[in-house]
Amino acid sequence: MKNIKDTIIIGAGLSGLTVAWKLRQIPGHSFLLLEQSEKTGGAIWSHPENGYVAEGGPHGFLDNCPESRTLLAETGLDQECVKAPLAKFVRYVCMNGNLKLIPQTPTKILAAPLISPLQKLRVAADLWKKPLPGEPTVSEWVRYRFGQALLPYVDAVFTGTYAGDLERLVIDGVMPGVRQVEKEHGSVIRGLLKKMKAAGSKNKGKKKGLPAMTSFPQGMNRLAERLSQDLDTEKEILTACSVNAVSRENGYWQVETAQGNFTGRNLVLALPVNQALALLASLGDPPPQSKIAEARIVTIALGFGEGASLPPGFGYLTPEQEQRFCLGALFSSNMFPGRSPEGHILLEALVGGRRHPERLELDDETLIRESVRDLQGLLNLPGEPTYSRVLRPQSSIPQLEAGYPALLQWRNTLMQKEKGLYITGFGWEGIGLNDMIKTAFRVSEAIREGEQDSGEQDAAVKKVYF
Ligand SMILES: Cc1cc2nc3c(=O)[nH]c(=O)nc-3n(C[C@H](O)[C@H](O)[C@H](O)COP(=O)(O)OP(=O)(O)OC[C@H]3O[C@@H](n4cnc5c(N)ncnc54)[C@H](O)[C@@H]3O)c2cc1C
Repeated sequence: MKNIKDTIIIGAGLSGLTVAWKLRQIPGHSFLLLEQSEKTGGAIWSHPENGYVAEGGPHGFLDNCPESRTLLAETGLDQECVKAPLAKFVRYVCMNGNLKLIPQTPTKILAAPLISPLQKLRVAADLWKKPLPGEPTVSEWVRYRFGQALLPYVDAVFTGTYAGDLERLVIDGVMPGVRQVEKEHGSVIRGLLKKMKAAGSKNKGKKKGLPAMTSFPQGMNRLAERLSQDLDTEKEILTACSVNAVSRENGYWQVETAQGNFTGRNLVLALPVNQALALLASLGDPPPQSKIAEARIVTIALGFGEGASLPPGFGYLTPEQEQRFCLGALFSSNMFPGRSPEGHILLEALVGGRRHPERLELDDETLIRESVRDLQGLLNLPGEPTYSRVLRPQSSIPQLEAGYPALLQWRNTLMQKEKGLYITGFGWEGIGLNDMIKTAFRVSEAIREGEQDSGEQDAAVKKVYF
């Protein structure tokens, strides 16, 4: 048959672009990347304006993922990227109306006066607690294992990552590695200590320390631009090409789009969970849920001139109990040089999330006014901003809530049953850029080897940074 591609990839966000990048390395392997939008990069959206560079999507990724480091080295982007080391750039949590500095290592966190000695004893009670059965929410699980006092800090972590609600996110979805430690060792603390000891002897001699937040002088767009740069626009990528349906006929994958139909031996869905579910509905057994919850946020980029100053560090996050307008803010001009004109600072406030979708409906003027009022209560920002821009991303953050583990299991079974089908992307196995790159590497390796992807995660314990 003519015009059959070895692999068709749907979605040219970071996941699809990374799969394409790796497939190019397989001699003679033909692929076609189909993207509904005019631009590639998906959720990645840098906004340069008036000497400022703001981000409507991801702000960066930590340099502690081997696959991401490999991708940077292969693309030559390791020579261009800018890094803000966590060891140097402190972070804050807003508590009782003030910014509290959060140490970044577990021992320093335990030593810090963030919670009372009695509350620390309650945290240690984890050592005697049995694994919590069922599919608890993050808040139920934290309350049971460590007590109430840690909740605001955990809230800040999941606000900063999922823009989520810890009364709804499930621990098996967002921290499968930690949940496995709990099930294997009874106590999370004991299990983590054992893992650290084992890793310590394995990593003897290796450089230790905190990772660094990584981006590019022109913003995260540079990553998508570089990954797209060498793609042949006739043979390897079609933009403005929305996929309407997929099916399997005579052992080949058929992909229907308004620009025509395409045939492939393998099919990679590199899409956020809900977009993938929409295309998968007609294949095999129906999924346990037809869509999952999502959270949207808006970024309010604010520039301030003379008289304004930022404390050192990355920025801050706010737990819900503080009842503030912003979820937090990034001190962007602190993190990455060149994000604001000389003599000015750039802050990026985040608003909305799972708990406050109503704020996404506010007009730009109100969002700017309320964000500035909120930030001025915490930071030294006299006067009005000299620059302001509201960035409203199209992308939403998938929320791993009740039923998500069963949905993931359904996906894994489907990939085992349907030869040549690979499902990766935003929300399936994590939500961060590093998760996307890691999974895209695994998928492309399975394609290279002609194997199905089991989708089974190694349930590694991901380190938490504020
Ligand atoms: C506001 C925001 C802030 C974030 N901040 C961070 C951060 O600071 N650090 C971090 O690590 N991660 C962050 N993330 C997460 C990160 O952006 C994602 O992990 C990553 O971009 C997801 O990439 P993806 O390719 O899987 O999905 P996407 O980027 O969503 O790409 C999917 C692509 O598929 C296309 N598509 C969808 N349906 C179809 C169809 N039917 N046919 C053809 N094409 C289709 C879409 O147009 C899109 O281009 C953030 C996400 C958001 C939304």
